[in-house]
Amino acid sequence: MMKKEIFLCAINNILSGTCNEDCKFCTQSVRYHADIERYSYKSIERIVAEAKQAKSHGALGYCLVTAGRGLDKKKATFVAKVAEAIKKEIENLNLIACNGIATIEQLRYLKDYGIDSYNHNLETSKSYYEKICTTHSWEARYETCLNVKTAGLQLCSGGIWGMGESLEDRESLLEAILSLEPDSTPLNFYIPNDALPIKGRNITKSEALEIIQKARKGLGEDRLLMVAGGRELIFGGTEREMFDAGANSIVIGNYLTTSGNTPHKDKAMLEHLGYFVATSCHG
Ligand code: SF4
Repeated sequence: MMKKEIFLCAINNILSGTCNEDCKFCTQSVRYHADIERYSYKSIERIVAEAKQAKSHGALGYCLVTAGRGLDKKKATFVAKVAEAIKKEIENLNLIACNGIATIEQLRYLKDYGIDSYNHNLETSKSYYEKICTTHSWEARYETCLNVKTAGLQLCSGGIWGMGESLEDRESLLEAILSLEPDSTPLNFYIPNDALPIKGRNITKSEALEIIQKARKGLGEDRLLMVAGGRELIFGGTEREMFDAGANSIVIGNYLTTSGNTPHKDKAMLEHLGYFVATSCHG
C-alpha cells in the first residue's frame, strides 16, 4: 500500500535552448527552431531566489538543468558555484544536477560542492535510440549513469515514453533503467511540439499506468518514482490513478520549456486526494 506522502521536485533551467545535439524530442536543440526562451547562464542570485521559492512551495528536490551535450569545465564550475550558494542558504533540499554526459571526475567535483544527486535519463531503449538521436549514443548515456554511482552521487534516471517506440522498446527501456538501480526515476510522457521531428504521442493513459506499475514493482517500495513531463496531458484530473499505480513524486511548477500547473493547484490536488507533501528527504 502506497504511503500517503508525495515528494515534490522542482526544475530550474539555468542555461536554456542552446544545444547542438539532435535529440528529436527536445525543444532545446537549436536544430529545430522551437519557439522557446533561449538564454545563457542565469545569475546565481536569481537561481538561489528561485530555489527558495520552490522550497517554500514544498520542493524537497531541486534540479539544476543546463542544455547541451555534457559537462565541460565552464559548466561544471558554474553549477558548483550555484550548488555552494544554494546549500549555504537553504537546508533540507536535495540538490540535483542535470548537465548531460559527465565523467567520474566531473561528478566527484560537483559532489564536493554540494550536489547530492545527478539526473541523466536513458530516454528510450537501446535499439530505438538511433531513431531519436544520432549525435551521441545510448551507451554514452548508460555510462554516465554508471559514472554517477561510482562518483558516490545518488542516481536519478528515467526516460520518455510515447515517442513512437514499440511495446518491446518500452520493456527494454524499463529493464535498462532498473538495471541501474536508480534512487529516483522520472517517467516522462512525450509532449508533442510542431517544431520537433517526432510528431504525435503514441501512448494511452492505461499504457502509462502499466509503466508506472511495472516501474514500482521493479524499484521496490521506497524509491522515488516521479511522474514528470506530460503529467497534465495524460493524467490531468485523474492523478489518483497514477498514485494508486505506484507514483510517489511529481514535479511542481514548470518543466524545462513547457508550463506545468501552479504549485498551488498541485497542492490543492494532493490535499483533495488525501495525500501529504513530504517534508524530509527520502532514505
Ligand atoms: S543533449 Fe540534452 S539538451 Fe541537447 S538536444 Fe539532447 S536532450 Fe536536449
